[in-house]
Amino acid sequence: MSAVPTIPGDDTLLDCLIIGAGPGGLTAATYLARFHRRILVVDAGSSRARWIPTSHNCPGFPSGVHGTTLLERLRDQATGYGAPIVEATVARLEREDDGFHATSGDGQHWHARHVILATGIVDRMPALEGLSAAIDEGAVRLCAVCDAYEASDERIAVYGPIDEAIGHALFLLTFSRDVHVVPETSRRADADRLRRAQDADITVHPPAESMAYDGECTVVEFDGVPPQRFATLYPTLGGEAQAGLAHALGARCDDNGELIVDEHQRTSVDGLYAVGDVVSALNQIAVAVGHAAIAATDVHNRLPRNFREHRETQPETAPDLPSPASAPTPPETHARH
Ligand SMILES: Cc1cc2nc3c(=O)[nH]c(=O)nc-3n(C[C@H](O)[C@H](O)[C@H](O)COP(=O)(O)OP(=O)(O)OC[C@H]3O[C@@H](n4cnc5c(N)ncnc54)[C@H](O)[C@@H]3O)c2cc1C
Repeated sequence: MSAVPTIPGDDTLLDCLIIGAGPGGLTAATYLARFHRRILVVDAGSSRARWIPTSHNCPGFPSGVHGTTLLERLRDQATGYGAPIVEATVARLEREDDGFHATSGDGQHWHARHVILATGIVDRMPALEGLSAAIDEGAVRLCAVCDAYEASDERIAVYGPIDEAIGHALFLLTFSRDVHVVPETSRRADADRLRRAQDADITVHPPAESMAYDGECTVVEFDGVPPQRFATLYPTLGGEAQAGLAHALGARCDDNGELIVDEHQRTSVDGLYAVGDVVSALNQIAVAVGHAAIAATDVHNRLPRNFREHRETQPETAPDLPSPASAPTPPETHARH
């Protein structure tokens, strides 16, 4: 049976508030809803996964899956088990006696014993005319671990701070022998890095003056030398961890602001968990989903027991429990890459 999830009232003490509805937050919601816990997901609607044209390394999708299709399926699964999702941005998170108090930018309030932060990162994007179309077509790619296989044997450029770009270019040699570095600025490279790039036949170009997608390739213009066209461009500009709510509570983080967690996904703030890209770890869907399974199970095990009543007195019993509608599986979206 599938029902529309009920949004708990402001004064309800939730077992867990999940902030963020990307792969991490939605998986945590599915687990906790299936543990019969009282939860709520709050989401600002900008999952990184929405940028994915087609993911080919997401477990269980041999023909690939579009990022938005994956998000829809994860959402259907969570809401199908009764997890309510509210569209809002949590602006403040504070400790209180029995847990946490969260306030959204539009003035909504929630109280929860535990919080799972699944807020991700925001990529720093390059100034590149036609960027959105280039990402859609796989001409600009943001995650070599995810999709360098699809760029195998292409002419690849890495754009960013020179030392990071050389490091990334060395990684990309697994996929192509035609790898170039386009520095973001004229800052000199570390001598050892530069030598390693030269030894590996990586071409280091002058800093880019401008970049534009021409419908097929990225064209990079330089000062005084002819432009270059690249079938694939990987920016290495990093991203900004969306961890401000945890930083404000004093949670430990690494030099990039990403949260440090233990083997249960607990941050250094008691009751506050972190999963997915916001954690100091590999930024991948499979990792976010794994983090979420671990965090949700730990939250469940730390909460007071919620033993079922006997069938005669339990308000809602099988087979009338919520479960995702038995709707036909939506078709997968196949892009050319
Ligand atoms: C172009 C591209 C291609 C990629 N391809 C792949 C791939 O093929 N395979 C792979 O494994 N990974 C891929 N990734 C990486 C993958 O998208 C991320 O690892 C994954 O989305 C991380 O999930 P998450 O749940 O941690 O964060 P996200 O998916 O980013 O979700 C975070 C959510 O939290 C919300 N949020 C943030 N702050 C707040 C707040 N204060 N209040 C409420 N909500 C908030 C955001 O709006 C967002 O909806 C790709 C990424 C990009 C950009």
